[in-house]
Amino acid sequence: DTAIVWFRNDLRVRDNPALTAAIAESANVVALFVHETDKALRPIGSAARWWLHRSLRALAQDLASLGIPLLEAHGEAKASVLRVLREHDARALFWNRRYGPAARQIDSDIKAEASKHAEKVQSFSATLLTEPWELTTGQGKPYSVFTPFWKSLQQQHIATPLPMPRGRKGPLGRAAPVDADYREPTWASKFARFWDVGEDAARERLSDFLEDELPNYSEGRDIPARPLTSRLSPHLRFGEISPRQIWHSAAALAQKEHRLAAQVDKFLSELAWRDFSYSLLYHREDIANVPMQEKYAGMPWRIDDSQFEAWKHGRTGIPIIDAGMRQLWASGWMHNRVRMLVASFLAKNLLIDWRVGEQWFWDCLVDADDANNPASWQWVAGSGADAAPYFRIFNPVTQAERFDAAGQYVREWMPELAQLPDKWIHNPAAAPGDVLRAAKVELGVVYPRPIVDLGLSRQRALDALKQL
Ligand code: FAD
Repeated sequence: DTAIVWFRNDLRVRDNPALTAAIAESANVVALFVHETDKALRPIGSAARWWLHRSLRALAQDLASLGIPLLEAHGEAKASVLRVLREHDARALFWNRRYGPAARQIDSDIKAEASKHAEKVQSFSATLLTEPWELTTGQGKPYSVFTPFWKSLQQQHIATPLPMPRGRKGPLGRAAPVDADYREPTWASKFARFWDVGEDAARERLSDFLEDELPNYSEGRDIPARPLTSRLSPHLRFGEISPRQIWHSAAALAQKEHRLAAQVDKFLSELAWRDFSYSLLYHREDIANVPMQEKYAGMPWRIDDSQFEAWKHGRTGIPIIDAGMRQLWASGWMHNRVRMLVASFLAKNLLIDWRVGEQWFWDCLVDADDANNPASWQWVAGSGADAAPYFRIFNPVTQAERFDAAGQYVREWMPELAQLPDKWIHNPAAAPGDVLRAAKVELGVVYPRPIVDLGLSRQRALDALKQL
């Protein structure tokens, strides 16, 4: 009489409907995680793998305290799940839904096959605020513009999170020490300084954020030097916390302290962008590859390996871009404002295909997300559903002067520029020679000259876009 819970992007024990259902169903619950090798699925990136490895350890401990063992398997999803189902002669199989087209296909195959062996095979809603098919326009179509999506989402009842499930008596579950072929990427050695992984860490991060940072969120969320955003993204990516838990905690705070209502509203609208991206993932064709606006298929992207390498490694000669790419490399994360600038710089100033940049982010971000990453890249590149008009091209220097006025962010990630005065910190190439000498910044030696002219490259992008 065993029930299996198949964990995927929901590595938590609270507000986990599949786990709760399994515990209600059966005295004997076994948890399973499959390191899926299906060709149709996008292989997890290196930085996310770093996170996953730790998150599974944390989950195994939490499950053990409920008397539930966590099994890990490597292989194709269907074969792995069916094998575990048979080995345990399980009566029930539960999971929480995922939304990518390939993943959905795999899951529905497994559901059909597993139903032949098990009495009950059931999937649940756990990863989004609302299911992607629940929110549609007046014409019953999916939204392609965020603002009406957000208005409509606010009218929805967001399910109340489930409490911690009750543990069972008897022997503690054992955490399986599988995943033996995991090798830590050497460049990820610094990540541990920035992150605590797992459900407990996610809950703590949320409560610290609501107390310390949320009160200044609206004004501060665009200032990369000030850590005023929640930094919950990797926890959300792996489902260590659910958006419903975040929603209800933040809403309760707004109820208690009315002065925070506008801040909470802004924060929840950002959280809703995540649901919006998932709605695009669900309704559109392959958003990591196919431009959502068809005309972008004809974009004359340039192939330029040396400029792409410079972008990847933070050697473009534009300090805010380089600082962002170094923050990404060191910590597996980048501030949202800077993500927009580096993506725009790649797709517009360098005119390099956004898909190449998206793949680099996919490999380097601890929060690399099937929906958010491609949807955001398409948004910045201009091909997205609700993208900015094509003629709006960020100037990274003026953006930096606005959002990092004292150069604090650049100084943090680019120590070689730290001694430049504020006036020149974002544009060393324009600084007088004596200023550069005094700051020990020899251009072309200590720090590169800009790899493109911002004005000319902007015009080149405009010309290319106009022709589409
Ligand atoms: P907060 O401001 O505290 O927001 C709370 C949560 O809301 C976030 O954790 C995230 O889940 C969601 N959210 C916030 N902004 C957005 C947004 N614009 N789009 C979708 N969801 C959002 N986010 C990812 O989670 N994974 C990615 O792979 C990813 N790639 C991106 C690539 C580019 C080019 C850009 C411009 C943005 C990308 N984002 C991605 C969105 C955004 O930058 C991050 O979600 C955010 O910086 C995470 O920091 P936070 O948790 O402190 O955000």
